[in-house]
Amino acid sequence: MTSTIESGTQPQAGVHTAAAKRAYQLDRKHVFHSWSAQDLLDPMVITAAEGSHVWDGDGNKYLDFSSQLVNTNIGHQHPAVVSAIAAQATKLCTIAPSYVNDARSEAARLIAERTPGELDKIFFTNGGADANEHAVRMARLHTGRHKVLSAYRSYHGGTQLAVNLTGDPRRWASDNGSAGAVRFFPPYLYRTAFHSATQEEESQRALEHLEQLISFEGPSTIAALILESIPGTAGIYMPPPGYLQGVRELCTRHGIVLIADEVMAGFGRTGKWFAVEHFGVVPDLLTFAKGVNSGYVPLGGVAISPEIAATFGQRVYPGGLTYSGHPLATAAAVATINAMADEQIVEHAAFLGENVIGPALAGFAENHISVGEVRGTGVFWAIELVKDRATREPLAPYGSSSPEMNQLVAACKSRGLLPFANFNRIHVVPPCNTSVQDTKSGLAILDEVLDIADGFSA
Ligand code: PLP
Repeated sequence: MTSTIESGTQPQAGVHTAAAKRAYQLDRKHVFHSWSAQDLLDPMVITAAEGSHVWDGDGNKYLDFSSQLVNTNIGHQHPAVVSAIAAQATKLCTIAPSYVNDARSEAARLIAERTPGELDKIFFTNGGADANEHAVRMARLHTGRHKVLSAYRSYHGGTQLAVNLTGDPRRWASDNGSAGAVRFFPPYLYRTAFHSATQEEESQRALEHLEQLISFEGPSTIAALILESIPGTAGIYMPPPGYLQGVRELCTRHGIVLIADEVMAGFGRTGKWFAVEHFGVVPDLLTFAKGVNSGYVPLGGVAISPEIAATFGQRVYPGGLTYSGHPLATAAAVATINAMADEQIVEHAAFLGENVIGPALAGFAENHISVGEVRGTGVFWAIELVKDRATREPLAPYGSSSPEMNQLVAACKSRGLLPFANFNRIHVVPPCNTSVQDTKSGLAILDEVLDIADGFSA
């Protein structure tokens, strides 16, 4: 490969170790991968990672502009988190959720202090999907209602209910068995469902659509409305002015529990601790995972309002899991949140968005005919690629990839950049603490790769 990023002190380029080869062979023989046709895979072996970089089985170094699955918010192998996990492992690896544990108590305090409003009780889960499942269960029991509204162009997780609430094509194969899931069109001006010309119009029309949908479904049947505060994998499309506030008002008016899914957008990614802060909205339930401990040990959870917590004051909450508040995961969360605060990582994410990524992407939109739109905030950005700017025909069809997109991903990798690609989009989602210099190096590679994309566009 022709890496434009210099190798560090980690594994040497060209040394395809026997261990990496064996890992690959065993993987192909025994490991069944997520969301994939197993026989068509040729996965990359990763042998080491540090900060914003990873090394493959041949010793090649890559700048990770994906944060893996947009979760390594403080980068790989942060020393404070690694030593907190090691210290916790030495002290107490596991304990049932019914006991009190200091790591769990402290993680709950640190999260509750950062969530908006009075979301002061934390129910811990293993990840994002089960956080959303539990949030919906709480909302149903709290309201005594059944239906749940969710947006097209969204992702809420791979378990049965969470995938049925999902608005993107990962739902299609499992679109059965979760009664009461009803979807609405979210605002998305670039591909508007409402024939809007401005963000204000899009916001107003999307709210009118939602209001109608609520009245046709019957407000007294609707337990919850779940949405990503800023949708992630579905395209990092920013809610237009007034939209989230309007959704909050509709939910309050009809007694519907508002669930903000901050699994991807939370913990610094958008330049604030939580994306809802950009809009001054307080949900009734807020779900999180990924960035809470940078994904070092699986962890998710639900932050709960006092009203919903009170529903389960004298009445049993009928749900739980063996690893709720697992000590290794919550010790990692404590260390991650403290490191983010000490090193001002959230502020750094905001700085990168405003001063480095935002301006560079605006330049791409001007200089590359393949770029239909760029949008985002913090270290949470999407570049929407089109074959034709006038018709906005995407470079890959909705729900699919294309030879052109595959070529762009390969071009990034051959230049030492790990991108996050979905359908016709490349997302710019590096760790929140990526240095300005590394961010600029990655953007320079993307600029080169967009020259190739321009060749596919009219
Ligand atoms: N919600 C959102 C917004 C996500 O992006 C994801 C995962 O990407 C999930 C939920 C599911 O989280 P998990 O994969 O930890 O179950």
